[in-house]
Amino acid sequence: MDGVLVITGGSRGIGRATALKAAAAGYRVVVNYTSDAAAADAVVSAIAQAGGTAMAVQGDVANEADVIRLFAEADAFGPLSGLVNNAGVIDRAMSLVDMSAERITRLMMVNVVGSLIAAREAVRRLSTQFGGKGGVIVNLSSRAAELGGAKQYVDYAATKGAIDSLTRGLALEVADQGIRVAGVRPGIIETDIHASAGDPGRAARMGSTLPMGRAGSADEVADAILWLLSDKASYVTGTTIDVSGGR
Ligand code: NAP
Repeated sequence: MDGVLVITGGSRGIGRATALKAAAAGYRVVVNYTSDAAAADAVVSAIAQAGGTAMAVQGDVANEADVIRLFAEADAFGPLSGLVNNAGVIDRAMSLVDMSAERITRLMMVNVVGSLIAAREAVRRLSTQFGGKGGVIVNLSSRAAELGGAKQYVDYAATKGAIDSLTRGLALEVADQGIRVAGVRPGIIETDIHASAGDPGRAARMGSTLPMGRAGSADEVADAILWLLSDKASYVTGTTIDVSGGR
């Protein structure tokens, strides 16, 4: 695997695990983040120590100008070969009747609009129609897209349903332009995202209730992402894989 791989939200959790594995596989990795520069720098350092190449780029995927700048900086790093649309946010558990428009808009902007704009920038560079060499886009969905998130986060679930539609639609749109588009639907994975929803113990607590009796790890999701990025998945497009221990 070679070329530049942009990973949105690559500084922590699933994005971090993907960045480390992608660098080990030979990609030059662009580690995007919004606020935690130290976490992003730590990923870049870990990659450099292991003999890989990476750089951190601050930018809010919900802000179009930031996404355009992110890809411009990636261009200066080398020719793009892939994008992992990983940046995503959730909020505190509640029913839809109690949700503010601000909360819903924030989730839609980061999870959906951010992924659409980043995918657009990637297609502009990867598509053979625009002189590109092709490549792969992997979108992070969630099992919530199908389970629905009732009484917890139907807004988040709806954003991930939109991601599944993006994966399907864009894959068909660019299938003859050298670009594969695929998705991953994680179940309950041990990362900081649960703390950001005000429930840091969620993954550990729910683990024993899951079909495999445990939550998943960021590494287990990253392995599926790396496979989708690789030539071993050369005939895989327009589909989304559950990485959820059967959930
Ligand atoms: P996480 O541990 O909370 O990490 C989120 C990452 O995204 C951080 O690097 C964060 O950077 C970055 N980020 C947040 N908002 C951003 C924005 N507006 N622009 C750019 N970067 C932003 O999350 P995770 O659990 O690894 O989740 C990764 C993806 O998997 C998300 O799309 C999530 O919805 C999905 N997923 C996770 C689970 C799970 O159980 N963990 C399950 C299903 C799906 P800063 O630190 O700088 O904010």
